[in-house]
Amino acid sequence: MNVLERLDQGIRLAPEEAQLVESVRALARSEIAPRAGACDRSGEFPWENIRALNRLGLNGMFVPEQYGGAQMSYTAYLECLREISKACASTGGIWATNFHFSKPLIEFGTEEQKRRLLPVMVNGGLGSLTITEPGAGSDATAMKTAFRPEGDHIVVTGEKCFITNGAHADLYLLFGKWHGIEDGRKAISTLVLEKGTPGLTVVREEDKMGLRASSTAALALDGCRVPRANLIGAPGDGLKILLASLNRSRPSIAAHALGIARAAFEDAVAYINERRQSGRRIIEFQGVQFMVADLATELALTEAWLWRVAQMVDAGAADFGIEASMLKLRASDLAMRMATDAVQLFGGYGYCKDNRVERLMRDAKITQIWEGTNQIHRQLIGRSFVKK
Ligand SMILES: Cc1cc2nc3c(=O)[nH]c(=O)nc-3n(C[C@H](O)[C@H](O)[C@H](O)COP(=O)(O)OP(=O)(O)OC[C@H]3O[C@@H](n4cnc5c(N)ncnc54)[C@H](O)[C@@H]3O)c2cc1C
Repeated sequence: MNVLERLDQGIRLAPEEAQLVESVRALARSEIAPRAGACDRSGEFPWENIRALNRLGLNGMFVPEQYGGAQMSYTAYLECLREISKACASTGGIWATNFHFSKPLIEFGTEEQKRRLLPVMVNGGLGSLTITEPGAGSDATAMKTAFRPEGDHIVVTGEKCFITNGAHADLYLLFGKWHGIEDGRKAISTLVLEKGTPGLTVVREEDKMGLRASSTAALALDGCRVPRANLIGAPGDGLKILLASLNRSRPSIAAHALGIARAAFEDAVAYINERRQSGRRIIEFQGVQFMVADLATELALTEAWLWRVAQMVDAGAADFGIEASMLKLRASDLAMRMATDAVQLFGGYGYCKDNRVERLMRDAKITQIWEGTNQIHRQLIGRSFVKK
């Protein structure tokens, strides 16, 4: 057993969680990984993978029992996500977005909203976390989408971009600004927009470098009338909901990145144990061993930090934002470095699409960009040490 396998054995899971993780691992190996290359090449949404995950009832693991789910720990969720992402980063990103949609609804929704909307997810629905706009990326508070109350409805007008699951979502957790609240930050509000609402149009889907099978859509919101019953919290609660959502979603971005990193590491190690040059296996060259040592050490330490943050969340910690930023930053930088070094260790073969490391290098890049770019995370971490 190597050091990474020992680390995996130490992940704290209840027996039924360990059983589910095993089923996810088996599915990832037998179905999701074999399809990943074709999904990447065609760029088609991986419906077969989503149906297979739904056959395991996987959305239910983040929904409490009283709303039809079978809730499990955050640790179990992150481990499932890492396994799926290792097999296919597009599918991992799609499924994680269902969590990113559901968690704020569970945390901030009313009983009526949860009873009405969460079963959609439990029954295999797709969710979307809809924040970014053409003029509001790193500074989400600059968003312009307007929520104007009109009787029992809220009229939504604006545009959103780069929305994961955007073309296929059943439910969108949508952020905009409440008409009539002057202070822009205090105006941010949150509602659930349902698929098929008149005025909601998918303007285009992006043609991306990586995660090619996931849908990343630009949306137009042209006078969408949303029942007031779909407002989450009160007008102006949006920033609080947004920040709480991002704290939960950032470790999941890290688990996604670490799935990519693990896949790249395993492929590279397998290859350099086989490939021979100058009469020796590549791994026997000391220069290559130093590379492997640095990558393995970084991977082990980052994974250990993932499980530490997961335990904090499972123990009910309220304040884990900086830990989550450090994790997202480190895991995504590692995924990029690992995938790039894996391509290097494959030599010319790594540059060709026959080998998975080529895709992993393209898939890894997004992890440094979304859910707060790594510059933004460095800023958040650094700022936390400024004395008030
Ligand atoms: C594939 C994909 C999927 C996505 N999925 C979603 C989704 O589901 N929902 C959603 O709402 N959004 C989503 N996004 C949007 C993503 O979160 C944003 O792209 C990201 O937050 C950066 O915003 P931006 O692209 O506008 O870049 P900008 O904010 O314009 O940044 C450009 C550059 O400037 C740097 N920069 C900006 N501000 C600062 C600063 N203060 N200090 C230092 N450097 C700075 C950035 O780090 C970056 O390098 C997705 C994006 C992609 C590409």
